[in-house]
Amino acid sequence: MKPKRISILGATGSIGASTLAVVAAHPERYRVSALAAGTNHAAMAELALRFHPEIVAMGDPTAAERLRETLQKILGTRAPEVLEGESGLATAAAFSTDLVVSAIVGGAGLLPTFAAVRAGHDVALANKESLVMAGNLLTDEASRRGVRILPVDSEHSAIFQCLAAGRREDLDHVLLTASGGPFRTLGARELEMVTPEQARNHPNWDMGAKITVDSATLMNKGLEVIEARWLFDLEPEQVRVLVHPQSIVHSMVVYRDGSVIAQLGTPDMRPPIACAMSWPERLPLDVPVPDFARLGALTFENPDTERFPCLALAFRAMREGGTLPAVLNAANEVAVDAFLNRHIPFTGIPRVVAATLDAHPAQSLDSLETLLEVDRAARQTALALTRKSAGKPAGKSVAEPTQRRA
Ligand code: NAD
Ligand code: MG
Repeated sequence: MKPKRISILGATGSIGASTLAVVAAHPERYRVSALAAGTNHAAMAELALRFHPEIVAMGDPTAAERLRETLQKILGTRAPEVLEGESGLATAAAFSTDLVVSAIVGGAGLLPTFAAVRAGHDVALANKESLVMAGNLLTDEASRRGVRILPVDSEHSAIFQCLAAGRREDLDHVLLTASGGPFRTLGARELEMVTPEQARNHPNWDMGAKITVDSATLMNKGLEVIEARWLFDLEPEQVRVLVHPQSIVHSMVVYRDGSVIAQLGTPDMRPPIACAMSWPERLPLDVPVPDFARLGALTFENPDTERFPCLALAFRAMREGGTLPAVLNAANEVAVDAFLNRHIPFTGIPRVVAATLDAHPAQSLDSLETLLEVDRAARQTALALTRKSAGKPAGKSVAEPTQRRA
């Protein structure tokens, strides 16, 4: 069998590492074609030496230059071409391959993901932000090009697998599970005091900094709700959320006869990644099955959108639609960054997002140009809000969010 060629955007990150672990476990099945990342040239040099990509791209031109020097020194004329900047990332995404794993974090993944789809490549999507921002622009482009967008996110992989158990027309709704994050049981006052170090310490999953904070605010679940809407072509009311602190049930699908199909497993990103890489075949992986007897109980509860308003804000953005999910995403990226840099408190994140949503009412999302313009404007608003808020007493800085129940 000819090896399947895999390109990885965001190769030096957490999803990149899990993807390469699957590749390394099955060298006869997979070959790396292109690798791309942002700034970490040392990590990329190691990956390039180990996995022999045909082409490499770094978003940061200085990092690209360093990488070129290192690879030239070691590999001489056998060194792969190193591209740089936004156009380099797009070229790497479009480079000849069988599957592109889109795993850059945040809005920076949008244009590379589009470039992969436009080049006619199937995409294994981890970069949920691109689908939240672009919604139907991305799914329409994928249908026009006849390419598949396969879920990598564990919840969406679970739904994808559960949907194989029935007919689409018999589907009632989907239930996305959420761990609830590290602050599930904290009171409102305690949430004001949470530090970046505490927020970066997720109880069940080992992930990049941004998604770990998103998991703590429940914005990650909000982004996933919107992601599910587009991936599976659902109506907003068909997407629901259930907190499940053990992270063993990765999500569920409810059929009209009341049957609930769930997908379970140890919290590890290799199975959902491998699923996107090999579906409908399942690869042997060195991943333990949950020890159910030891777990004893799996528990479920409704999310609390009073303490975690980000989830309600995401539902609002999904329902109002158009450009609003892109505004939500942009504001969240700026706010999370400000929180990690200690400019705003943890509870400032939903406040910044809510105030940014209020300042940029939904327009119709008619083109990528509109999207980029709205994204830029929303980031500016959010940045101004975080600056205004810096130096003021924690949490009293920007308008209270409009709290709606999910
Ligand atoms: P991470 O921070 O560990 O890695 C991010 C990757 O993106 C790195 O390779 C980095 O170099 C690259 N990158 C960042 N900015 C860039 C830029 N401007 N240009 C080019 N490359 C850039 O993040 P992660 O945890 O691997 O998450 C990646 C994506 O996958 C996110 O969208 C996240 O929501 C999604 N995701 C992650 C997990 C997980 O378990 N880590 C699970 C589900 C979904
Ligand atoms: Mg997830």
